[in-house]
Amino acid sequence: MSEFDLIALIHARAATRGDVVLGIGDDAAILRVPSGRDLVVAMDTLNSGVHFPEDTAPADIGWKALAVNLSDLAAMAATPAWCTLSLSLPQPDAAWVDGFLDGFLALATRHEVALVGGDTTRGPLSVCVTVHGLVEPRGALRRKGARVGDDVWVTGTLGDAAAALRQWQAGDAIAPALRARLDRPTPRVAAGHALAGIATACIDVSDGLLADLGHLCRASRVGAALDVDALPASDTLRAAFDRDSVCTLQSAGGDDYELCFTAPKTARLAVESALFACEVPATRIGRITADAELIVLHDADGGAWSPPRRGYEHFGG
Ligand code: ADP
Ligand code: MG
Repeated sequence: MSEFDLIALIHARAATRGDVVLGIGDDAAILRVPSGRDLVVAMDTLNSGVHFPEDTAPADIGWKALAVNLSDLAAMAATPAWCTLSLSLPQPDAAWVDGFLDGFLALATRHEVALVGGDTTRGPLSVCVTVHGLVEPRGALRRKGARVGDDVWVTGTLGDAAAALRQWQAGDAIAPALRARLDRPTPRVAAGHALAGIATACIDVSDGLLADLGHLCRASRVGAALDVDALPASDTLRAAFDRDSVCTLQSAGGDDYELCFTAPKTARLAVESALFACEVPATRIGRITADAELIVLHDADGGAWSPPRRGYEHFGG
């Protein structure tokens, strides 16, 4: 197996689309951006042992490498179109690449994204993807734009992926439903698109809700007050961890790839019907305040809540 055999393998399996003038095989790809659309570009790298456990199946790595990138486009309300893939592999392993493509291309097909090029090199296992999407001019959602009094919303549930990682790190058996959220995150592409024109600001939750909402608040020059007991959790998460651990995983865990967004109170019905139409649940978790960058957490009774000290939580079994 040479670099060129691997590229031939990728080329043979990658689908194309009508706006790809020239895909894999030349020195660069040529893409036709429709007139009247802005191009939206994002890039994310996954390193073995840092962004996924070493024992992750190649197909799951493929899925996740594209999913985390599509999640960035989702947060901008962009419609994905094309992607490029840089693969660094310790060995020229065709079976590994084939497995990787199973996951990567399954998600690419689902979102009609064409793989139009990339780079293949020898080195520690690392995957870097660039995605290109399209929006109408001024149609993108941004981190900036949240206003005092807006509701804070989040799609889906939080904490499952971080819970799987904790169980893996502790050497415990990982609940399959939690592991699935870690390995195969669902980028909220349709939800992001549906929220364009309704949400005032949006970010995807990759580093943990508090960290990412913090970015949104900083960009919008506002603060937020959150109700920790309102944070959405899966039944599996609630069954596997005590309440404080659940809240910690939800608020500080990360790897969720849900959308956290803000919208005026008057838009509640519009948010609900937009997300209902794409079958994505969403929960109101708090509101935007005038306290610059400050995120205050309280429980259902109004008492202050902060993540427990490290080591306080007892994860697993
Ligand atoms: P160059 O040396 O000119 O950069 P390469 O030999 O790296 O060309 O790549 C040849 C073609 O294969 C290019 O079209 C490139 O985009 C594509 N390619 C290389 N690696 C990948 C990959 N991992 N995924 C998709 N396309 C790839
Ligand atoms: Mg090259």
